[in-house]
Amino acid sequence: MLITISSEATSDERSQLMNLLCRLTGSQQPLAAVRIDKQEVIALEGKALDLDARKAIAEQAAVERTISVKTPYKLVSKALKQETVITIGSGENLIRLGGSDNPPVVIAGPCAVESKEQLLQTARAVRAAGAQILRGGAFKPRTSPYQFQGLGIEGLHLLAEAREETGLPIITEVMEPGMVETVGAFADILQIGSRNMQNYSLLQAAGRNSFGRPVMLKRGLSSTLDEWLLAAEYVVAAGNPNVILCERGIRSFDPQTRNMFDLTCVPLLHELTHLPIVVDPSHATGKRELVPTMSRAGIAAGANGLILETHIDPDNALCDGRQSITPAQLKGIVQETRLLTQLFKGSLSLTHVA
Ligand code: PEP
Ligand code: MN
Repeated sequence: MLITISSEATSDERSQLMNLLCRLTGSQQPLAAVRIDKQEVIALEGKALDLDARKAIAEQAAVERTISVKTPYKLVSKALKQETVITIGSGENLIRLGGSDNPPVVIAGPCAVESKEQLLQTARAVRAAGAQILRGGAFKPRTSPYQFQGLGIEGLHLLAEAREETGLPIITEVMEPGMVETVGAFADILQIGSRNMQNYSLLQAAGRNSFGRPVMLKRGLSSTLDEWLLAAEYVVAAGNPNVILCERGIRSFDPQTRNMFDLTCVPLLHELTHLPIVVDPSHATGKRELVPTMSRAGIAAGANGLILETHIDPDNALCDGRQSITPAQLKGIVQETRLLTQLFKGSLSLTHVA
């Protein structure tokens, strides 16, 4: 159940509502209200509430309306609203990610920040190719402890330098709750990686980050959509409504590709949630030559953006070089993305594209 609070509610009316909710749900702590689009919303599991209880809630002076939600996730569900548009950066670099009116956003950059030269050269190339956000891992969750783990704080400083020079907002991964504020001081978007999708204390810390940074939540290695949406719900319930979902492929049986790119989830998620969805053909396929085609497929499926590992010298990358594209390939994908967007909007005909 979702309960929206009237903006005219007095503090007495609010506490009356909170007391009633605590009593009905058996909760010891007051339920938290989350601010979404200037509206305060309380989510709760309504299964155990009978008709009388629901009626009592709806009749509270502080309540504007109640919405019944059948799914286990509430705040991220389509029952609350149609779409979420997340604004990133400012001025002429202001980007709107999500929503059916905004064109897909391309995020590109290396898997890992390796050096000043590598990052700055890549950032310039990413900008020149027309991508809008720079990615780069400073803290890398590597499968083996003997692999390059990232430059850490130094990597964050280099990302800030690259933003300063190019104007591109940056996204970088945060791996532990205690680092959310440190990474949030640098990043425009916090990335939570696949391996951490169910790290609930990290999700809550990112939900409470004091900078109000949006969070890009990558799908867990073999997570169902419900698990993924509930992970997003953790972030939103902790106070941060700006979550971007990222499909990056799921575990399957065929080693020909690194993962199985579940593009079906894109239109399905648009049915289930108002959150924007970005797709990651790099981690999904693991092969550079497949990335352009699968980028097209992602856009055709309705993704709100692409995240593409891009390196100035992919064959010598310290991390994920096999799936990293060159700046030239990136440029082609950005152009195709624009064309496809125009095509789907009906402002371009197929004969024109051919
Ligand atoms: C990455 O984006 O470099 C990364 C580690 O991704 P994932 O969490 O999807 O494996
Ligand atoms: Mn990577």
